[in-house]
Amino acid sequence: MARFEYLEARTLRQAISLLQRHGDEARIVAGSTDFLVRWRLGVWQPKYVVNIGRISSLGRISYSRRLGLRLGALATLNDLETHPQIRRNYPALSAAASSFAGVQVRNLATVGGNICNASPAGDTLPALLAFDAQCKIVGPDGERWVPLDEFFTGPGQTVLQRAEILTEVRLPPPLPNTGSLYIKHSPRGAMDIATLGVASVISLEGSGRVCRNVRIGLGAVAPTPIRATSAESLLWGREITPELITSAAQAAKADAKPIDDVRGTAEHRQDMVEILTQRTLERALDMARGNPMTFEMQRDLAVQAAF
Ligand SMILES: Cc1cc2nc3c(=O)[nH]c(=O)nc-3n(C[C@H](O)[C@H](O)[C@H](O)COP(=O)(O)OP(=O)(O)OC[C@H]3O[C@@H](n4cnc5c(N)ncnc54)[C@H](O)[C@@H]3O)c2cc1C
Repeated sequence: MARFEYLEARTLRQAISLLQRHGDEARIVAGSTDFLVRWRLGVWQPKYVVNIGRISSLGRISYSRRLGLRLGALATLNDLETHPQIRRNYPALSAAASSFAGVQVRNLATVGGNICNASPAGDTLPALLAFDAQCKIVGPDGERWVPLDEFFTGPGQTVLQRAEILTEVRLPPPLPNTGSLYIKHSPRGAMDIATLGVASVISLEGSGRVCRNVRIGLGAVAPTPIRATSAESLLWGREITPELITSAAQAAKADAKPIDDVRGTAEHRQDMVEILTQRTLERALDMARGNPMTFEMQRDLAVQAAF
């Protein structure tokens, strides 16, 4: 294992200037849960490690009905799982966090790290896409906002430029009559990376049947996390019927472009996308119609090992 010099930033400005000074020889760490694995394997061998984990302003979480949710990049997976306003207003995100590794990892792993690691299988990513997350990026030239669905450019690749840091993620406030659900398929159950994950968020007009808004996020079925846009466009503005949900689930299967790997074949993944899209839409619809699910119910559904 190659040695590195450990640098701890106390402010965002300090972190950016350290990254500028050391360029490609430096790597940011937050919770270090991805970093330590890759460093031990020799995949990442930075000369300098810049820890941003002690910049307290990056750990804040706030929610208001007008502005929605603001998540500092250092918010941990444990924060996402347990925060009362996230459980209440973005239940698919809390459920996704609960499906993630074990409690020790959830206490360290950050939402910013999960996003910037850009794994197609990152568990928070389908739910964040489905909740229309926007990313705040700060760097030497100031700040910019990028929608999460434009943030990923390939497996492990993002739009982040040299010395840029993801500082915050914002989710708009949920519309009235909204339901959401995340399901991760993982044959070995909990404590495993997703073979695939699906998050659906649906909002209805009034208390009726017409779809006002829908977003479906898919994980581990393409080089980056994606939205099932053909499935979404079948549902937008339409009266939702069981037949329409079945058609949308079939469209999501076509939206997915998975590969074979150690966790599953492409064919299996495509079949599972259809099943999980149907399942998440049905449950989310039920919630949007006024039948809420408790966090415990969501958590119990969040990891499905077998069918
Ligand atoms: C045992 C184990 C189990 C795991 N299980 C799961 C799982 O079930 N689901 C899942 O999705 N993941 C899982 N992971 C992966 C990992 O925990 C997550 O990706 C985690 O969210 C990474 O966050 P971190 O803060 O630890 O990132 P770090 O390891 O600190 O960083 C990860 C990457 O992101 C970059 N980075 C971090 N923060 C920022 C920032 N704010 N701005 C710019 N770049 C940044 C780093 O430079 C690095 O490239 C697991 C890992 C381990 C070791």
